[in-house]
Amino acid sequence: MKKRVWSQGESRVGMTGALLATLLAGCSDVASDAPRGRGEPVRRGVQAGGSGGSCAGLCGGSAGSCWCDTSCSTYGDCCSNYASVCGGGGGGGGGGGGGVTPPAGWTLISPGSTVGGSVISGGQVRYVFPKVSGRTYRVVMIPGTEAPGTGDIDLYTSGDSSLSLSSYQCRPYAGGTAPEVCSFAATSGGWNYLILHGFAAGAYTLSVFEQGAGPAPHATTFDPAVNPPSGANWYNAQGFRENNHLGADLNRNGGSSADLGSVIYAVADGTVTYAANAGTGWNGVVIVRHNAAPGAAYSLPGGGSAAAVWSLYGHVHATYVSIWLQPGDVIRRGQPVGVVGPTPSGSTGPHLHLEMRTADVGPGDGYDASAAGWVDPLAFISAN
Ligand SMILES: [Zn+2]
Repeated sequence: MKKRVWSQGESRVGMTGALLATLLAGCSDVASDAPRGRGEPVRRGVQAGGSGGSCAGLCGGSAGSCWCDTSCSTYGDCCSNYASVCGGGGGGGGGGGGGVTPPAGWTLISPGSTVGGSVISGGQVRYVFPKVSGRTYRVVMIPGTEAPGTGDIDLYTSGDSSLSLSSYQCRPYAGGTAPEVCSFAATSGGWNYLILHGFAAGAYTLSVFEQGAGPAPHATTFDPAVNPPSGANWYNAQGFRENNHLGADLNRNGGSSADLGSVIYAVADGTVTYAANAGTGWNGVVIVRHNAAPGAAYSLPGGGSAAAVWSLYGHVHATYVSIWLQPGDVIRRGQPVGVVGPTPSGSTGPHLHLEMRTADVGPGDGYDASAAGWVDPLAFISAN
């Protein structure tokens, strides 16, 4: 029996639901790239007709003010012919209205999304996602919704609908609560199938990341990195520029270790540029580049603007950081970047150190007398 386990994630599931509805309805032209609210349908300003899609052939590309991301889940002026342009597998033909319909018995999950749930012992949860030839996909399953999880769920994947526990293309078969990852380069379009099997009952967090063809995504909306979209129940223990600090130290209410294992979320759509254990003092660090839409720019706290910014997530659990993400992964707003790790050297307890930069400068030191190239991350997120 599948159940929802996202304590913070009704909106997360809802966002997937909205995306699903859009896919099933066919991805129609939209007239504006106005930021959308969480849980709000992706489509807005739908234009009748669409003349074959103003983004035809441009899924994951751009021309003038017209652009859409590699999965057509975020776009400024998207394609009406999602299935044929974005390789929607078995879709594309369907009578009257077309759209993308997953095979019977399989639940559609989009590349660039994260879902959570649970599996009973001996049970199965089955997902499918459309793949595009030439792109690389990484399917990452971490037991539980906050580390460490419980139980033992096994991941099976295949590009063949005959996927079963005895016929598969990838089965990491890691024991217990170890994360499981299947990655592959698609040599054709169509569907990719996933089974999560409950070797022992447990909960899971499943993400599909995409790499490869197509330009980096554009980000129009930023959310808090913890407990989005409100950020409630967390506080800033050391603000930007306090003691030459280059970021904000975010702690969860409830005591010094209350945030250990808490999920950290990408503040906006972007491309991972760094995901590794950065050593003593840092533990895991993730950096994501965010591009403004063509012709647009982000307003910076204190004045000025930038066409691109980099968000940094520090003190991420090092055990998971390079499993969960790799440089080149396209990550979406609200997808997990990892979990808060144990107390970093020199700190008084677990927390998220969040930075926002205007340059690509690697992990750095977290503190500097000069903040040139850095902005107040919380003010930036509020303003964008
Ligand atoms: Zn800090």
